[in-house]
Formats: sequence, C-alpha cells, structure tokens
Amino acid sequence: MVDVVIVGAGPAGIFAALELAVKAPGLSIVMVEQGSDITSRSRSGEGMLIGWGGAGAYSDGKLTISTDVGGQIGGLIPESELAGLLDYVDGVYSSHTPLKGVYNLSADDAQGISAKARLAGLVYVPTRIRHLGTENCYTILKEMRDELSGKVEMIFNTRASELVKDGDRISGVRLEDGRLIEARSVIAAPGRVGARWMADQAKALGLETWTNPVDLGVRVELPAVVMEDLTRIAYETKFIYFSKTFDDRVRTFCMNPYGEVVRETIGDIVTVNGHSWANKKTENTNFAILVSANFTEPFDDAIGYGRYVATLANMLGKGVIVQRLGDLLAGRRTTLSRLEKCTTTPTLKEAIPGDLSYCIPYRILTNIIEMLAGLDRVAPGVNSGHTLLYGLEVKFYSNRVRLDRNLQTQVEGLYAVGDGAGITRGLIQASCAGVIAARAIAERYA
Ligand SMILES: Cc1cc2nc3c(=O)[nH]c(=O)nc-3n(C[C@H](O)[C@H](O)[C@H](O)COP(=O)(O)OP(=O)(O)OC[C@H]3O[C@@H](n4cnc5c(N)ncnc54)[C@H](O)[C@@H]3O)c2cc1C
Repeated sequence: MVDVVIVGAGPAGIFAALELAVKAPGLSIVMVEQGSDITSRSRSGEGMLIGWGGAGAYSDGKLTISTDVGGQIGGLIPESELAGLLDYVDGVYSSHTPLKGVYNLSADDAQGISAKARLAGLVYVPTRIRHLGTENCYTILKEMRDELSGKVEMIFNTRASELVKDGDRISGVRLEDGRLIEARSVIAAPGRVGARWMADQAKALGLETWTNPVDLGVRVELPAVVMEDLTRIAYETKFIYFSKTFDDRVRTFCMNPYGEVVRETIGDIVTVNGHSWANKKTENTNFAILVSANFTEPFDDAIGYGRYVATLANMLGKGVIVQRLGDLLAGRRTTLSRLEKCTTTPTLKEAIPGDLSYCIPYRILTNIIEMLAGLDRVAPGVNSGHTLLYGLEVKFYSNRVRLDRNLQTQVEGLYAVGDGAGITRGLIQASCAGVIAARAIAERYA
C-alpha cells in the first residue's frame, strides 16, 4: 500500500513526482514505466518514445511558453493561473544545465511578420519559445532522475496493465506481471504512446471521454537559409492558413531550424517527426504542415482513420516516403536519381523516394500545396521544386478524459495528466499538468 502511483515517466509523470517530492515529502510514491531508465534507453523504433523522459527525451526541447498553444489546460483553469504555471515549469527546466535564452520577439518584429503573413493569406501566431535542444533534454532529464532517486521508488521495464477501483474510488494499479500496487491516489501519465491503453482504462472504469481529431500532413524540409530571417528572431514561426478549396484550417507545427527529420514508430506504424540539437547544426530546417481531420456521425474513429492512412504510406514506401515538391506538382514520383539531383540533401537517409499523392487524401494534399504557396510569400523559396516532403506525419491525440480543475477524473483519487489524457500536446503543458495533479494530492494529504 502506497500513497501515490504514477504511471508513465514522461514529462507529465516526472513533474508530478518532482512536485510531490517538494510539496509532500512524507508521501510514499511509486513510478511505473514500461520502458528503460534514461541511461539505458535506445533511440530506435518505439524506444524513441518510451522510457524515462518519455517522448521528451529525444525531442527538440522547444518550450512554447504560451497559454494558446500546446494543450487545452486553459479550458480547465483560469488563464492567469496557467500563465503562472508555464513560468514555474520553465523555471524548473531552466534551473538545469547551461541553457540558451528565450526567443522573445519584439513587438515590432512580431508586427512585421504578422503584416507579411496577412498579405500572403496567413495568420501568424507569435509565441515565446525556449529552445533546449535534444542533447540538453537528456541532461536535464538525467538530473531530474537523480534528484528523485531515494525519494520515489521507480519500477522500469514494467507495464501497468490495469487501473483498479473500489466503488467510486481508485484503489491501485495492476502490473503486467500480476502484482497489484494498492494506492490512495493514482496519476495516469501514459502519453500519446499510451493513448490506446488510456482509452481502454477509461472505458473499463466508466469514465466519460471525447474524441480528439487526428492531425495528418507532411514534414517539410528545406535549406535553413530559406527560413533564416524568421527563425533567427523567433526560432519557430507558427502560421495558420484557411484553405481556399476546403476552407480547412491548416497549420505549421514543430519547426526545427538547422535540424533533422526523424522516424517515429507508434506500434506498427512508422511516421515522421523532427528535432534539432543545441550545438550540432545541419544545413536544413524542417517543420510540419498539418490538417486536422474531424468527423461527424456516423464515423467517430479519428485514430482509426489516421492509422489507416499512415499504413497506406508505410505499405507503399516500406516506411517513410520522401518526395520533391517539384515532382509532386508535376504528377510524377521521386526516384533515387531525381532525389540525387535535389539541391536539398535529405537528413532522413532511410526515407524511400516515392509519390505521396498515392497515399495522402486529396483534401489534405490540396490544403498542403495551397499553404506551401502562401508560405513562399513570407519566406521566398519554400515553394521551390527542391523542397522535400516526407510522409506521413500523423499526430494521434488521445481521447480527452473528463477532468475537473485538479485534473481528477470521475473516479476519486484518479488523476489523468499529459498527452495521454488528451489535454496536452507538448512538453511544457504536459509538465504543467503533472504539477497541477501533484499539488492537488499534496493539499489533500496535508
Ligand atoms: C521527435 C519529437 C520531438 C518533439 N519535440 C517537441 C518540442 O520541441 N516541443 C514540445 O513541446 N513537444 C515536443 N514533442 C512532444 C513531447 O515530447 C510530448 O508532448 C511530451 O513528451 C508529452 O509528455 P507526457 O508525459 O504526457 O507523455 P510521454 O512523454 O509520451 O510519456 C509517457 C510515458 O508513459 C509510459 N507509459 C505509457 N503507457 C504505460 C503503461 N501502461 N505502463 C507504464 N508506462 C507507460 C511511456 O512509456 C512513456 O515513457 C516532441 C516529440 C517527439 C517524438
């Protein structure tokens, strides 16, 4: 019998543990993580997403210090409270390792980019960003791990199989080896990689959930110089575009100046993502263009749709497909010899040259092509025939679980936090979610 079990050691679970260790040092806390400890993690396959640090360990480490992006916690607590939490969490990250400063756009610069964007039919969303860099993520997470050692019992390489309740109260967590850890409170922080597990648990426990849309698109890679004027001052520039053909909301996401495109394995599906190092630079910048697929009755399986489309891309490309924009627009596949002539050198070497038009639905592809043309007016060169498109990028968001302002579910004592609860989509809000649940528990047992 312990006081708190935390399922998942990603940023949400780690920040919950850090906060509990400070605010309620007398509590007995166990963390259960299906992957390995930070020092023995592997970056290949699904290893990229699981283990101490979760998906954050090999991430780009962009902390988007904004209440408008990265999650929906703002719908549960007042905006001013969220702003305070963002600063608090940023402060915790910043207290580790030598960090670069925040990219904080001046009002003049933000206005300048906004005006240019308007003329191109785009909306610019200014954000304050701290870039940690992938290598610093490892160091920070390792320091957090060391800080918790001796204060929290950690169980690695073990999956939580079931959340167990007694009447309306949570009573513990069953592990895959059959052990039951009885607990007064449980924080479920399983991340996107645990989305399906969380959905199954929610169903078994009778929790109310809502479907989140799935985001589909491509990862764009181009010479860093094309975006340099923007990335030098803002690091990441977030643009929104409403497509002419479909009136769909299309957006740029996760920009990585001088970064690398990487494969992301989610179960049996291979998709793409991107990151950048703090001290090692490639010649390219990459970012995603995503379109949310929202469905109405009778269809409600957005995750199933996303999986289906991603599987098609995997079937044709035996993994990730890469295509020159010029080839896509000319209606032909990219071959190895065409790729060799490309003036943008791909950073993801394993991508197979192919034809994305065979696997990306017309609606999504049209939206992406339109947005690339718009972006070209803000950053000339984006719409070049030598711009590379990798497919498919898919963001599966977990079903959103009904939560109160403390992120407690309808089962007393069970909290659901981070990307796995469908309320966050990035490092900083996932970390904030862990802090919120931990503070509520600490207060309860004070
Ligand atoms: C390549 C890449 C780059 C990224 N770059 C950025 C960025 O620059 N900025 C940003 O804000 N976000 C970025 N992200 C997203 C960010 O990493 C996530 O939003 C964040 O890690 C979510 O935190 P989390 O704790 O909710 O979940 P996760 O980090 O996914 O952690 C969940 C943990 O729970 C464990 N788990 C799941 N189910 C179980 C179970 N049943 N039993 C035991 N353990 C379980 C998993 O193994 C995992 O370790 C990036 C992601 C990737 C993959």
